[in-house]
Amino acid sequence: MERKWRITVWGVRGSAPRPEAGYLEYGGNTVCTSLERKDDLVILDGGSGLSCLGRKIGGGQSADGADFKRLHILFSHLHLDHVMGLFQFPPFYRQETEIHLYGGSGFQEKLETLVGPPLWPVGFREFRAKLAFHELCPGGAFYLTGLKDLRGYTMEGNHPGGSLLYRLEEMTDENGGYKTGGKSLVYGLDCEINEVIFSACAAFAKESSLLIWDAGFAGEDLRPGWGHSTWQQGIAMRQAAGAERVLMTHYNWAYSDTFLRRQEELAGRMDPACIFGREGMVITL
Ligand SMILES: [Zn+2]
Ligand SMILES: [Zn+2]
Repeated sequence: MERKWRITVWGVRGSAPRPEAGYLEYGGNTVCTSLERKDDLVILDGGSGLSCLGRKIGGGQSADGADFKRLHILFSHLHLDHVMGLFQFPPFYRQETEIHLYGGSGFQEKLETLVGPPLWPVGFREFRAKLAFHELCPGGAFYLTGLKDLRGYTMEGNHPGGSLLYRLEEMTDENGGYKTGGKSLVYGLDCEINEVIFSACAAFAKESSLLIWDAGFAGEDLRPGWGHSTWQQGIAMRQAAGAERVLMTHYNWAYSDTFLRRQEELAGRMDPACIFGREGMVITL
């Protein structure tokens, strides 16, 4: 039976949180998005939005009240706006939960340095949940532990210090064998577009159900070399890839609700399949 994918937006800012009046309609937390899969919750990046997610599922419950057996956190990279939610994440203290962390080469050591003394009072050794780190290579495929009907792929992003783009693809069980061709989600944050990356990314995001995009800048605000993209490039990417929808996130810290509302209106006129992410937004695929 076909199962719906429920995607929740927990944080939409890049660089730093913006918890201030005039910024909260879209949201003040840094990036975090989740995908519910029955017993599993797949989380894309751990910005400050991850803390809100963690408080909500502190008891390990999904939207329909079922327990998540496993949480999977996929990191695009370790810039602070993508990991700061780890400092306050209640599920770390829940013994029954398995938490799988996925990231690029060497990310375990870096995260253990960041979350733990002397930079933080508690570290991974104090957490009671069952933790496992999975280091991934760009350009490879991987499985998420316990989720055999989902396959992951990675692509190297163009970002200072590197980043990973993810593609999650549903594997459908037919005649006793799994095959791709179901729903798919592509996560392309913190990646600056040039000609080479554009075609590689369009192939990576080909015919995906949802493309989640780095809308760090709007049009002419783009700062070359900063490692980010614009919502206009997100629309061009969705169209080149033939993706069904594109979800914008990772907004510049300086963009107010008034500014983003205007951008959303312009984007909607250019491409009705473009969605501007807001904290708390739920998208069903
Ligand atoms: Zn970022
Ligand atoms: Zn970054």
